[in-house]
Amino acid sequence: MNTSNSSCWVAAILAISVGLAPLGCESVLANQAREADASVIASKAGRATLEAGNRRFLDGGGKVHSWQLERVVQTGECGQRPQVGVLTCADSRTPPELIFDEGVGDLFVVRIAGNFVDPGALGTFEYGSAALGMHTIVVMGHTKCGAVTATCAGTPLPGNMSAFTAAIKPAVEGISDVRAAEVANVRYQMKQLRERSEILSKAEAAGDLQILGAIYDVDTGRVRFLD
Ligand SMILES: [Zn+2]
Repeated sequence: MNTSNSSCWVAAILAISVGLAPLGCESVLANQAREADASVIASKAGRATLEAGNRRFLDGGGKVHSWQLERVVQTGECGQRPQVGVLTCADSRTPPELIFDEGVGDLFVVRIAGNFVDPGALGTFEYGSAALGMHTIVVMGHTKCGAVTATCAGTPLPGNMSAFTAAIKPAVEGISDVRAAEVANVRYQMKQLRERSEILSKAEAAGDLQILGAIYDVDTGRVRFLD
């Protein structure tokens, strides 16, 4: 990336983003970040908010569903201000909005088998950070991940499936235990976000972005954040 132009790019993206919101929406957008319902992520305490949402999910006390149509109208008219990005697996057992009891407009999500970083994911999160005000990215792996298991097994996969094993392989080199490999892959992909994106690494250094890692247990529904 051309460093000298990066601040111009960010300014241009911000201008476009603000320009999309009709007059009168600024207060609505601001309110999106501090609505009374605690299920809306409101501050840089992203981890605590996500943990609280996961507890509601586990307790069967999720409350986001009750006001989704209102949020559809609001975000459709005024745009989105998602506070948290999630990079997670395509596995059908890992839907982040349900797991964290979050709703329409709350999470900026990239899902791909093995939750690995590619140029599309980098660009997506750069946009989320620079234009939408996203302050947290969670790389969330999960237990019993087929992509990680296949990579550890080392068996060649047909077609384009080798794309995810190739992206995960450097993370799990020398690790035979799949659960340890799932954690190693999360840590490796967090590193990839920092090393391959100047926009994200600068935002993190400036305190405008935090990058977290987590593992979701498909047997219990519980999210465990990595230290
Ligand atoms: Zn998976």
